Amino acid sequence: MSFAREQDGPLAAAAGPGEIAQEVRLRPKNLEEMIGQDRLRENLAVFILAARQRGEALDHVLFHGPPGLGKTSLAHVVANEMDVPIRVTSGPVIERPGDLAALLSNLQPDEVLFIDEIHRLSAAVEEILYPAMEDFQLDIMIGQGAGAQSVRLELPRFTLIGATTRAGLLTSPLRDRFGWSARLEYYPAADLQRILERSARVLGAELTPDAQSEIASRSRGTPRIANRLLRRVRDFADAKQGPGSPIDQVCARYALERLDVDDAGFDGLDRLLMMTLLEKFDGGPVGIETLSAAVGEDRGTLEDVVEPYLIHQGFLNRTPRGRVATRIAREYFGVPVRDPNGKQPKLL
Ligand code: ADP
Repeated sequence: MSFAREQDGPLAAAAGPGEIAQEVRLRPKNLEEMIGQDRLRENLAVFILAARQRGEALDHVLFHGPPGLGKTSLAHVVANEMDVPIRVTSGPVIERPGDLAALLSNLQPDEVLFIDEIHRLSAAVEEILYPAMEDFQLDIMIGQGAGAQSVRLELPRFTLIGATTRAGLLTSPLRDRFGWSARLEYYPAADLQRILERSARVLGAELTPDAQSEIASRSRGTPRIANRLLRRVRDFADAKQGPGSPIDQVCARYALERLDVDDAGFDGLDRLLMMTLLEKFDGGPVGIETLSAAVGEDRGTLEDVVEPYLIHQGFLNRTPRGRVATRIAREYFGVPVRDPNGKQPKLL
């Protein structure tokens, strides 16, 4: 089995400016265009309606879950549905307390402030956020040394929407200040198929239902990946059959094979991780640092992007002693347990 890495492949986390522009184009604009996550959507619709009826800003919301499931899209949907502006930033960008103070003091009444990767805010910045979230007040220091004075500013009411792939890394004072915290789940293939149908329409591409289902089943339960695969499959169709050619299942299958995406939606990095765990470490347990060094990939990428889907699919377990491959993984990748007596290898 080949498990070549495809750094810039369809599943890679980083995207270029062209890809980002396409993603924005495909982003759902309101709750109606948002597909799947039914429970979350229904609850959100209630909270939005209630806030609108009371003429208030929506309470602060935290969205958490793996990348590409729609956290940023939801923040934009909330702003659209509430009919208020949105300001977008992210944890690592807000370096100093002054950066956040400047952002907060420029907010308009009821505006949505979206902070992506909110778990990456520094402790000093978080301190500023607590009174802002709770009492809509901003405590700032003016001057330095003995003459420094603390000044309290009133802020307009606003809605903070935080997004994180690592809810566990949020400090509890921050977590407690959100009025609602919602987890996004991986999408079933049927929902991804509907997302692909809509995306193809937006892009002006013709995608047959069996091609939709082929791409949906290989998209790791993730709309961002489904959309990215759609764009790549369309490239193959356009290049091979001429621009605007309909995309059928044969064409989708061919393109997905060329893209090194297998039947389960695993890409080169998934396979590299699983084969390293199965072959080099005999299925584990092995520590994440060791595994990360062995595959030459950053630990954070493995933990946030690669592992959650493998765990969700039942291929990998995180245990206190390290990562362990499951029986399903052994069967799928065809790597039997090594027999210590050198006898016939067998599947666990
Ligand atoms: P996250 O912020 O969780 O990483 P995004 O909100 O950026 O994810 O979503 C990535 C892309 O996936 C969006 O551009 C959008 O096209 C698509 N998408 C995500 N969720 C949905 C959904 N529920 N319905 C339709 N498209 C979606």
